[in-house]
Amino acid sequence: MVQFVKIMRMKKHVNISCPMDCCDLCRFIVTVEKGRITKFEGDPHHPVTKGFTCKKGKDLVQRMVHPDRIRHPLMKKNGRFVKATYEEVFQIIADKLVSIQQEFGTKAILNYTSDGYGGIKNRIQSIFFNCFGGVTQPQGSLCWGAGIAAQQYDFGSSKGHFPDDVLNADTILVWGRNPKYTSIHLYTLLKQAQKKGSRIIVIDPVKTATAKAFDDYVRIRPSTDGVLALAMANTIIENNLHDKKFVEKYVLGFDRFKAYASGFTLKRAEQITQISAKTIKAMAFQYARSKTASIYIGFGMQRYHNGGNNIRCIDALAAVTGNIGKKGCGVNYAAKSISPYLSDLDRKSEVYAKNRRLFTVGKLGDFLETVQGPSVKAIFVAYGNPLTQSPDLKKTVKNFSRVEFKVVFDHFMTDTAKQADIVLPAAFVFEQEDLFATSMYSPVLNDSQKAVDPPEGLIPEFEFYLELAEKIGLKNLGFKDSQDYLRKAVQPLLEKLGKNFIQLPGAYLRIKTDEIAWKNKVFETPSGKIELYSEKALQDGLSPLPAFMEPSKGNNQFPLRVLTCHTMNSMHSQGFAFTDEVPKVYLNRKTAEKFAVEKESYVFVKGEKAKLKARVCIDDAICDNTAFIYQGWWHKSGAVNLLTNSKISDMGKQAAYYDSFCTIEKIS
Ligand code: SF4
Repeated sequence: MVQFVKIMRMKKHVNISCPMDCCDLCRFIVTVEKGRITKFEGDPHHPVTKGFTCKKGKDLVQRMVHPDRIRHPLMKKNGRFVKATYEEVFQIIADKLVSIQQEFGTKAILNYTSDGYGGIKNRIQSIFFNCFGGVTQPQGSLCWGAGIAAQQYDFGSSKGHFPDDVLNADTILVWGRNPKYTSIHLYTLLKQAQKKGSRIIVIDPVKTATAKAFDDYVRIRPSTDGVLALAMANTIIENNLHDKKFVEKYVLGFDRFKAYASGFTLKRAEQITQISAKTIKAMAFQYARSKTASIYIGFGMQRYHNGGNNIRCIDALAAVTGNIGKKGCGVNYAAKSISPYLSDLDRKSEVYAKNRRLFTVGKLGDFLETVQGPSVKAIFVAYGNPLTQSPDLKKTVKNFSRVEFKVVFDHFMTDTAKQADIVLPAAFVFEQEDLFATSMYSPVLNDSQKAVDPPEGLIPEFEFYLELAEKIGLKNLGFKDSQDYLRKAVQPLLEKLGKNFIQLPGAYLRIKTDEIAWKNKVFETPSGKIELYSEKALQDGLSPLPAFMEPSKGNNQFPLRVLTCHTMNSMHSQGFAFTDEVPKVYLNRKTAEKFAVEKESYVFVKGEKAKLKARVCIDDAICDNTAFIYQGWWHKSGAVNLLTNSKISDMGKQAAYYDSFCTIEKIS
C-alpha cells in the first residue's frame, strides 16, 4: 500500500506521439502526477516538430477526459444503446463470426479501418481478419491514392525530402497545399525560407491562409493543374531552359513528352487554367532559372477524375528541369521512408487471407447495395468514421445501416458508431505504448509510451483482438502480446539502421540516406529512370504520357463545384464532435450575387442526391462557381459528403470528391 501511494505521487515525464492523421507527426512530453496528466508540451528535441504543436494536439488530453467519451461496451437493444460487459460482447461477436463463416463464408464480413489513430497497432483488426481467412476490405483511397499511383508511374515510388531541406530551395511552389492549416511545421519553414530570400509562389483555386501569408499567389481554375504544368514545361523546353544532361541520363520518354507538351501553348493554357499567359511564362522562367527549386503538392488536386494525371504533369515539369535528386529540389507529395519497413506483420498475415474480396473505398455505399455472392452480413469498423467521411453519404448510410451486424470502435458516439449494434471503447494514445510513422511528410519514427491507465475495465483494441482470437481458437496471428508485436513490427527498420529494440524508447529514428529523395538517381521504375512515358501506365489502360483530361463541369441545375478542404482545428471529423452548429458555406461575392444570397443568411446547399442547411459566408478567397465547405461536419450539423458523389479518379482508385456539383437554394 505504501509503495502504491509512493508511485501515485511520483511525477514522471512520458514521450507521446501525436496519433492523428497529420503530415507532421509531433511528439509531446506529458507530465503525469497521481495517475493524471498535468502538463502537456511539445518535445523540443524532435528533429522535425521541434517542440511546438497545433491546437489539435493540445486538445487531445481534454478529449481523453471528456464526459462524453465512451468508456465501456455498448449494445443496441430495441434501438437504444445499453451498457454491456466484455464477456457478453466477446460471446456475441465470436458466435457471429463463426456462424457467418459457416453459413456464408468469411467474405460476408467487411473489415473497415482507416487512419483515425496512426499507431502501428492499428493494423490489428486487419491482421485478425486476414488470419481468420480473409474478408471483404477496402482498396484505393479516400485521401491521396491518385497522387501516389502517379508518382509510382513516374518515379517508382513517392518520396519526400527531409523537411529542413526546403530551406535550400531558391524557388518553392506550394501547389494546392495549405500548410498553415494542415502542416504547421512546413509553414514555419516556408516563412524561414521567405526570410532568407527564397521566392515562394502559392498556386491554389482558393486564396487560402497560406496563400495570404506570401506575396505571390496564383489562382488556378480547379482541376487544371496538369495543364499549368504542361504549359510551364513547354515554355521551358521551347526556350531551351530544360536540363539536357539530366534528361538524357535519367529521363525516359522526353521526346514524346516534348511533342505532347508542345500542344500546351501559353494561350491555350490561359484559356483552360484562367491564369494569364504572362504569369505562366514568368513562373516557368522563375522555376527553370532557379538553381534549386522545389514543389510541395497538396492532396486536393488529385481529388478529381483527372487527379493522377495532374500530379504526373507536375512530376514531368520537375524532371525536365532536373529538379530531382538534389538538395532544395523535389516534388514533395508523400514521404514513404519509414513506413515500408513497418508492414511485415500485415504482409505475413496475408498468406492466410485466401478468401479476401476487395471493394473501392470511395464506393462503399454502391458496393453494399449491389454486392452478391455473398452479400455483407457484418461490418467491423475501427479507426475511422466512414459515415461522415465517405462520399455519397445518403446511399452509404442507407446501405450500411441495413447490414445486420455492425461493430464499431471509437472514443465518441460518431455517426458511424450510432449505426452499430455493438460499440466498443477505444483507447487513447496516452493509455498504451505504440510506434508511429507517417508517409506524408515527417520521416521520423515516434516511439510513444503509456502515460496513464485507460478507464477502469477498458480493453484497448489491440488486446481486444488478441482475446477474441483466443476465444475463437485463432492461433496464427504471429505475436503473443503488444511488446512482441511492436518488437517484430519494427525489426526490419531496426535492422536497416543497425539498432536494437532496447534503444528505441526516446529515440528519433530516421533513414538519413533517404533525406534527399532519389539522391542516387536510381528510380524504382521498370527502366530505372524517371518515366515520362510509362509502359506500365499503358498496360493499366492509361495514357503512357502525363495527359490533359478536360475538367468536369456543372450544369444548369447544379452549377457550383463543391470543394471540401481541411479546416485548421479538426483532423477530418474528429474536431466536430462537440458542435452542432450549422456548417458555413463560403461563396465569393460574384456567386453570392448570382444566387441573391446575403452574408449570414441561411440557405440549402443542394447536391444531386441530398441537401444540407448552411450559413453563408461571403469571401473573395473562394474561386468562381464554387461552394466551399470545410470537411468533417457531423450529421447533426450537416455532413458535407451528402453533397459529394462516388466518382473515382483516373488512377489509384481515389475518391474524386471535388467532381461534385451543387446549387444554392434560399430559405425564405
Ligand atoms: S495534428 Fe499535426 S501539427 Fe497538430 S499536434 Fe498533431 S502532428 Fe502536430
